[in-house]
Amino acid sequence: MTTLPQQASPSRNALLACGVVGATLLALIALGHDGRRIAQLAVLALPMVLWLAWPLRSARIRRVRTLLVWLWAMGFAIDGAVRAYLLDTYQAAPDGAMVLGAAANTNAREGTEYLWMHWRSAAVWGAVLVVAGVLVGMFARRGAVASTTVSARPSRWMVALIALLLLLSCVAYASKPWRRLHPAIFWTQWIDSLHTLRSAWAGQQKQRDRLMAQAKAIAPVIAQSGPSTVVLVITDSINRDNMALYGYGRPTTPRLLAHKAQTGDQMAVLKNAWSVDASTLPALRNMFHFGLPEAESPPHVLALARAAGYKVWWISNHDDLAIEQQHARLADVVDMVNRTPGRASASLDGEILDCVQEALADTSTDRKLIVVHLMGAHPHYSLRFPANANPFNDNVDAVESGLVKDGRSAWVRRFRQEYDAALLYHDFVVSELLQQTRAPGKQGEYRAWMYLSDHGQEVGHVSDRAGHSPSTASGYRIPAVVWRNSQSPVLSAEAAQQPFRADWAGWSLMNLLGVRWDGQRAERDVLGGSYQWQAPVIPVAVESFSR
Ligand SMILES: [Zn+2]
Repeated sequence: MTTLPQQASPSRNALLACGVVGATLLALIALGHDGRRIAQLAVLALPMVLWLAWPLRSARIRRVRTLLVWLWAMGFAIDGAVRAYLLDTYQAAPDGAMVLGAAANTNAREGTEYLWMHWRSAAVWGAVLVVAGVLVGMFARRGAVASTTVSARPSRWMVALIALLLLLSCVAYASKPWRRLHPAIFWTQWIDSLHTLRSAWAGQQKQRDRLMAQAKAIAPVIAQSGPSTVVLVITDSINRDNMALYGYGRPTTPRLLAHKAQTGDQMAVLKNAWSVDASTLPALRNMFHFGLPEAESPPHVLALARAAGYKVWWISNHDDLAIEQQHARLADVVDMVNRTPGRASASLDGEILDCVQEALADTSTDRKLIVVHLMGAHPHYSLRFPANANPFNDNVDAVESGLVKDGRSAWVRRFRQEYDAALLYHDFVVSELLQQTRAPGKQGEYRAWMYLSDHGQEVGHVSDRAGHSPSTASGYRIPAVVWRNSQSPVLSAEAAQQPFRADWAGWSLMNLLGVRWDGQRAERDVLGGSYQWQAPVIPVAVESFSR
């Protein structure tokens, strides 16, 4: 026989325990997560909270239950508090490149120093955790006790409700992406990624040192005198066929067209521009390594520019560890504007404009190379333009009728409208960047601007699909635009007739930078006098690269 610890009805006591423990957990989960995530975490936390409603006879097992529920709840609580702290302080998630990078970079001494410096926030969040710990501890003890009297047993509807909630929880644990949000699994994997990152870095830092040493040995020089500023804008997933600048039927690029009208021959729109890769990582590798194979151990564009005397900025709206390690960290100044994966990948490209302005205003050097990496129209398209900024929705125009005629489904046509709205916003960001570069600099300052996409995108162009597309030409059709404040035209009449390939962009960027070195291949520089087009080998059959 067991005696009841309280006078109140046992099921009401158990309900109160579930309620307080559950509410405390929910509050901490909500601090550290947002939107759907809160509900997902809550469902994952459910089983142990519900255990409190399960009547147990043995006092010893009840003590074990109290302890396990407390540990479980504190796992969720610490997870919530740490995330809330990171969000509050850095607007970052723990698995974002910045936080992972910083954590992997930190040794025990630096960790202590960090805590010492931030003891106030540590104390605040510590206090929150203590309160949560006390509350959960007090109420986890009041879990249901088995009773001999029938009246005290949980009612039938209660059992049904608990069974339903447990079923929901089973679904959560059966789903891998859902299950991975559980603090125990998430943080175990987080520590794993820390180790992976550290070991990868050991190689990457060495690799960057090697690239810098190689660039110094090549001893590039700057051929032109006077101050020089070059802005390289690399965007993501832009298909030139959707730009009015390239003759598209929807007015997606009014601002770039205005720039073109104002600047004439100083701005060249490379008509038939192609990427040779359909995804970001290989595309950027090629762009920054002159399109040369790994076997030739090609130099890195940014290392060469630095060795020649340029100060290099990398300003990015991406949050990608690999790009950061392989390219961005070769720059003198690295500014990753978009630091929260998931949450802030919704942050719009316009966020980077202030950083670029700051770099342009920097007075510490006369030679600047500013690399800007935009999200462009990377899927999901609806995240790439501000709310209510889609003038193309439900507009029956020639583009829409053409898609209908080609048999494109309603959802692909809808994606096309969102894609075009993303391009319209993109036009604003890219034109602002050009405007900033076109602003008069120092007396006699040379300025140049190059814009291109890493790869294209298929949005119902030749198939009833939307997304990255290695298997259709749309995946490789990109825009490329160059502006320069010199008197002579940017592009010779002959070069303007030939196609352009993005993996050779490095050769032309070096031309814009005025950098000279042994091993230059003039025939690959579209801006030079002896450009010679050569069709790349890509995984799709292209009828003509001149279209
Ligand atoms: Zn991409």
